[in-house]
Amino acid sequence: MQITFWGVRGSYPVPGASTVRYGGQTSCVETRTASGDTLIVDAGTGMRALGNKLSRESPQPRHHHVLLSHVHWDHIQGLPFFSPVYVPGTKISVYALLTAADELHQVIGGSTRHEFFPMPLEAVPAVFEFHQVEPGVEFDINGFRVAPIALNHPFGAVGYRIDGDGSSWAYVSDTAPFTDVLHKQHFLSGPEPLTEDDKLALAAMRDALVRRLVGVDTVVYDTHFLPDEYAKFPHYGHSTPDQALEICLEAQVRTLVLYHHAPTHGDDQMDRIAAEYRSQGAKRGINVVTSSEGMTLMVGPEGT
Ligand SMILES: [Zn+2]
Ligand SMILES: [Zn+2]
Repeated sequence: MQITFWGVRGSYPVPGASTVRYGGQTSCVETRTASGDTLIVDAGTGMRALGNKLSRESPQPRHHHVLLSHVHWDHIQGLPFFSPVYVPGTKISVYALLTAADELHQVIGGSTRHEFFPMPLEAVPAVFEFHQVEPGVEFDINGFRVAPIALNHPFGAVGYRIDGDGSSWAYVSDTAPFTDVLHKQHFLSGPEPLTEDDKLALAAMRDALVRRLVGVDTVVYDTHFLPDEYAKFPHYGHSTPDQALEICLEAQVRTLVLYHHAPTHGDDQMDRIAAEYRSQGAKRGINVVTSSEGMTLMVGPEGT
């Protein structure tokens, strides 16, 4: 199985001279089996270039499958610019967390209402289909086995373990560490004191994530913040590479991919982050790779 990164940024796109090497587009990853089955994970602005590539590869209408972690802008903004949407006969199945999917049609449709975008969802040639996913409930798409994983993010997010071709990888974005409850509180109000039930729920969420990652070859993880930045914004819903390493160490994952980079981290700083965590990972027996736009990784038991 291979994975290709079409957008590796969190929050908002950052085109410009300081991001040419790591890329400025927001979250979007394509995964592909040897037989050519593909899955798209997240629909950030990187999805536009992916759509153009898929259209060049196969001008015939196809059925695309898009797994969403959640519906924050940096994870859906590319969808209206995904060129297959405008090819009659195309079918697009969108999968998202139960809570979001209750209103997924309205959320995606709402973002393309005529005030915001010239072509509303109901008017595009492609046929959209929406599916709810539930953490722990696995399902199959073509040659892939998909297992959704609950994550700790404002109003909830879901990660995915994806198995195919005898190999596996996991997409763990967006998530904070499991120390504050984020899914039910307002962004500006910050964390409230934890109740005993909250602590149990967070511990269970963390345990379920670690258990799902056992046996996974490569983990792509939200490492938006450096530790000093995290200390200032603990309730923004993102992790540090240190927190990702800790989870990967417990799950005995051999390859960790840093992902969902802060838009404020330019190429030179990204080089320093990549070098620092490659060396920290090496000390723990984990191969740490820093994702960049356009990067393709082969995933397999023998390592990335
Ligand atoms: Zn995000
Ligand atoms: Zn988010």
